[in-house]
Amino acid sequence: MESFEQLNLSKALSNAMGDLGYEKPTPIQEQAFPVILSGKNVVGISQTGTGKTLAYMLPILQAWKFSKERHPTVLIMVPTRELVIQVVEQVESFAKYQSTRVAGVYGGTNINTQALEIADGMDILVGTPGRLYDLVLARAVSLRSIKKLVIDEVDVMLDLGFRFQLTNIFELLPERRQNIMFSATMTEDVDELIKDFFYDPVHISTAVSGTRLENISQSMYAVPNFYTKANLLAHLLANNVDFSKVVVFMPSKKAADRLFERFQETFASEMGIIHSNKSQNNRIQAIERFNDGSNRILIATDVIARGLDLDKVTHVINFDTPPFPENYMHRIGRTGRAKEKGNSILFYTPKEEPARQAIEALMDYQIPERPMPEEVEQSEELTPEEQPRLPDHLEPHRVLDADLSGPAFHEKSAKNQKVNLGSAHKRKMKQKFKKPKTRGDKRQNRKKR
Ligand code: AMP
Repeated sequence: MESFEQLNLSKALSNAMGDLGYEKPTPIQEQAFPVILSGKNVVGISQTGTGKTLAYMLPILQAWKFSKERHPTVLIMVPTRELVIQVVEQVESFAKYQSTRVAGVYGGTNINTQALEIADGMDILVGTPGRLYDLVLARAVSLRSIKKLVIDEVDVMLDLGFRFQLTNIFELLPERRQNIMFSATMTEDVDELIKDFFYDPVHISTAVSGTRLENISQSMYAVPNFYTKANLLAHLLANNVDFSKVVVFMPSKKAADRLFERFQETFASEMGIIHSNKSQNNRIQAIERFNDGSNRILIATDVIARGLDLDKVTHVINFDTPPFPENYMHRIGRTGRAKEKGNSILFYTPKEEPARQAIEALMDYQIPERPMPEEVEQSEELTPEEQPRLPDHLEPHRVLDADLSGPAFHEKSAKNQKVNLGSAHKRKMKQKFKKPKTRGDKRQNRKKR
């Protein structure tokens, strides 16, 4: 789109765009505008820097009508205090020629002062979930008039453990409302939240740029399991000349910790780890040590790594195959920046094969496959997640309704009462005819005792 004119913006908005020096909408703004304006639920996948704040604010402000309502009609939830301040400032600049009143609330400051600040009422309320909830409980603000809910940086929000606070707030909102959600990455947690709360949303996302990919040489290996992946990675990392600045992407905090532990003996002095369970200090230190070259290897999860400005990364290793193909694009975009040549290596298990195909379909490119180097030892060890499930009698907490003599404490729906004997039977057979115990099994059993 060549200019904002094609969006038929109100005079107030187009003047504000002119003042800000914005000439035309960014791709996510162009996509989001008609959909959000139509009132549909929307899930936007877009990274910071793409203009996502304006992407949801432009249609909201375009549709906004003067109201005498004291309580807010638009609620924007963001994960951090810094973001509250930033979004409030941005919204104020976008709404410069409208009479829209904006306020921001966040934790870590005196709640009474904040309650006073918002006592006069506002149209748009921006806040972090915890403080917002406390203010509602203190009756400093009511959320009963909310017509549009925006949750920004949902992935970070959930990664920081805000799901409970979010659902608390959902319960205070009117059922008839528009839900708009923005996330930089699609994760299992985000997907679950959408399925649980958002009816039939329209998905929008910024087109994946193909030009950037030209700088990145991609390859992949078929690997049977976690610990064989670790062996292969160790083999690759042994070449510290070519692999001089490596980000290893892991599917979860747990997996990241597990790999970090496994590499303690081999790479401890040249490796850092970053995920949201690490303290702020630890995280800052890990990034500094990686950026200044004291650490050659950074183990990271998707959510935490996306905001980082990492320089001159030689290799991105995808230890897992991300189930949402966009995440692969975000990951590999960490290398090959600013015309540097970058490398991306993907590990995939048979289970991850469909995800790998989805990535290739998205890029319209077949990632060249490399044979497993002969020196790499195939591991028989399995992670707890990879273990076959125990037979039912060894999982006492998995009591099936059919096993209960009396009525269940709470009635389950007919659907949930069904017992899938087939797979339980299969599991039992598998257990019976299983290969000799692997080291992983023993570990697992030791832990259980
Ligand atoms: P965001 O992704 O919302 O963090 O925005 C990234 C930056 O892009 C912010 O500094 C915005 O002010 C700026 N921006 C947003 N929309 C536009 C636009 N259409 N043209 C130029 N800059 C923009």
